[in-house]
Amino acid sequence: MEQTCMAEHDFPSESLDPSGEGWEQLRAEGHRMLDEMIDNLATLRERPVWQPVPAEVRETFRRAAMPEESGGLRDFFSAFSRDVLPYSVGNRHPGFMGWVHGGGTPVGMLAEMLAAGLNANLGGRDHAPVEVERMVIRWAATMMGMPETASGLLVTGSSMANFIAVIVASRARPDGVAMRTTGLQGRKLTGYAAQTVHGCVSRAFDLGGLGTDALRLVPVDAAFRMDMPVLRRMIAADRAAGFEPFLVVGTAGTVDTGAIDPLDEIAAIAEAEGLWFHVDGAFGALATLSERFRPALAAIGKADSLAFDFHKWAQVPYDAGCVIVRDPVRHAAAFAQTLSYLSREDRGTAAGAPWFCDLGPDLSRGFRALKVWATLSVYGTRRLGLMVDQCCDVARYLAARVEREAGLELMAPVTLNIVCFRVRATGEDDVALDNFNAELVKDVQESGIAVPSTTRIGGRLVIRAAIVNHRTVRADVDRMVDAVLEGAARRRDCGVRVPG
Ligand SMILES: *Cc1c(COP(=O)(O)O)cnc(C)c1O
Repeated sequence: MEQTCMAEHDFPSESLDPSGEGWEQLRAEGHRMLDEMIDNLATLRERPVWQPVPAEVRETFRRAAMPEESGGLRDFFSAFSRDVLPYSVGNRHPGFMGWVHGGGTPVGMLAEMLAAGLNANLGGRDHAPVEVERMVIRWAATMMGMPETASGLLVTGSSMANFIAVIVASRARPDGVAMRTTGLQGRKLTGYAAQTVHGCVSRAFDLGGLGTDALRLVPVDAAFRMDMPVLRRMIAADRAAGFEPFLVVGTAGTVDTGAIDPLDEIAAIAEAEGLWFHVDGAFGALATLSERFRPALAAIGKADSLAFDFHKWAQVPYDAGCVIVRDPVRHAAAFAQTLSYLSREDRGTAAGAPWFCDLGPDLSRGFRALKVWATLSVYGTRRLGLMVDQCCDVARYLAARVEREAGLELMAPVTLNIVCFRVRATGEDDVALDNFNAELVKDVQESGIAVPSTTRIGGRLVIRAAIVNHRTVRADVDRMVDAVLEGAARRRDCGVRVPG
């Protein structure tokens, strides 16, 4: 073989692996990285929840040249520790209550490392990692009261899981599989979800070629749950106008307020009308692990399909979404292809059909199932259920505190773990009050004490605290409320036009 002109120290091995002594150096570096990350996790509380990326750091990334020559692992890790680690979004921190983010666990982190070490591709073929994912899917189905024989796969998140479910539902129509070849052929499929449905369901209609207009948004009642009589009327009106209703989506834990749609009634209507019943249970479905909430979520067991996230309330590190489809034949019929370069064999590496690539849009897929398995086996579903209870208790405690504070008002009932409130005002115009609360949330986020987020309820901007992190305790929500009240007082002192 011809020698390259590269010096020995530039390219110490013929592969990208180290050789000889290099392995020992790598081991030492790896242990150092692991130690630092474990230290970092053990001391989360000592640091701000979130802080903005400093201008110099941002510039470092924006100006960095693409590396042509080899650099050291140690230098890379120093750059990570200096420029990335302190400036993440903060969802590991107990003071993080923004949006609906899981907190992750050290166990999940270690499992991620093992998965990367194995570098498995779970698109298909015959290997143990595929069996692990099948096991996790079987557990997920069982957990949710769906049959063990249900089909499913792990995906990036509930956005993808909802998308897959919408596609499966449309192809489960009479002659639906033919639409894979011919397109819609003028069929006017319509689906139904409450106005509070997550935006990814509308996106699924968009991506699926159905068009977002085909997703009818059903008004909600005073408890922010789908209004059932209106749903019935909307379906009837669409049928009368020549549309083809095919799907109704119930949400278990809406993103704004944590409300649970009347899943039982939705299931009954879906059955009577011959519609596919899908549940978006992104975070809320896992509340079924809690004895307290299981009854309210029992109807998930009747769903034709379910989307939920292990990366939210099960605390699995990002990303780990899951879609479950009751009928495995319909699931595969919606996605399977036959391609000569992916032929399935009766034995050898290419055995093991059906493959996960038959169940969704991805071919190459990572070993997400390992961190899910690690999380479930180390913590167990009972402990994860208690964690759900704990989050909901903290949310209830927060709601009670809000109701005690004269300066605050609760803006929605607390069903699960989400509390919507705002600084109260009398005689202030709506826009000024909305702005006041929006600016206040940014102040609190920048203080590093807590990260709540905002949403709109009935058109009004509210402060939203979602308690998803297993590390969040009562003292954390007290600190958040204190920061909100102090921030409001400070804004008043500064002469900002104030409510109250
Ligand atoms: C988070 C969420 C989604 C989207 O899930 P991703 O994992 O972020 O893709 C969908 N629906 C609801 C109710 C959610 O809370």
